[in-house]
Amino acid sequence: MKCPFCSDPNTQVTDTRENDEGDVVRRRRRCVKCDKRFTTYERIDLKMPHIIKRNGNRTEFDHAKLASSMTLALRKRPVTLELVEAAIDRIEARLLSLGEAEIPSEKIGELVMRELKKLDKVAYIRFASVYRNFADVDEFSEVIREVQARPKRSRNPRETNPTPDENDLFGN
Ligand SMILES: [Zn+2]
Repeated sequence: MKCPFCSDPNTQVTDTRENDEGDVVRRRRRCVKCDKRFTTYERIDLKMPHIIKRNGNRTEFDHAKLASSMTLALRKRPVTLELVEAAIDRIEARLLSLGEAEIPSEKIGELVMRELKKLDKVAYIRFASVYRNFADVDEFSEVIREVQARPKRSRNPRETNPTPDENDLFGN
């Protein structure tokens, strides 16, 4: 660690202490060149990775978007909130455990699909059909909302241009 006063790269650690919880290490350091003292802190860095979207843009991991995508896929399905939350926890724990600063959005999509497959087959198919064709996970809810916002089919066959199964798939 270089000295913050003279930028010399050679500093000595004169004292090392952990806090009571054992999750922060405090080090007193002395600059070999200018003899000034300073303190550094070492903490566990558990941050969710940033997401690399399919278009190459980077975005922050968004718990709310993940939760809303899962909830939408599971809409009106017989799955308890506790199970959904446990699934989201597992996805986030897995993402943390990768220890990467950035991960492709496809990775989250895979994890979501794996969890949905275990929770509810219908929700899995809903998610997979939209996700595979369209977008990143965090765009999933937007796509679903668009589909749901579409007007119901007209009864007059000349006015219809039905896209098969789409409305049924999302429970409309
Ligand atoms: Zn110095």
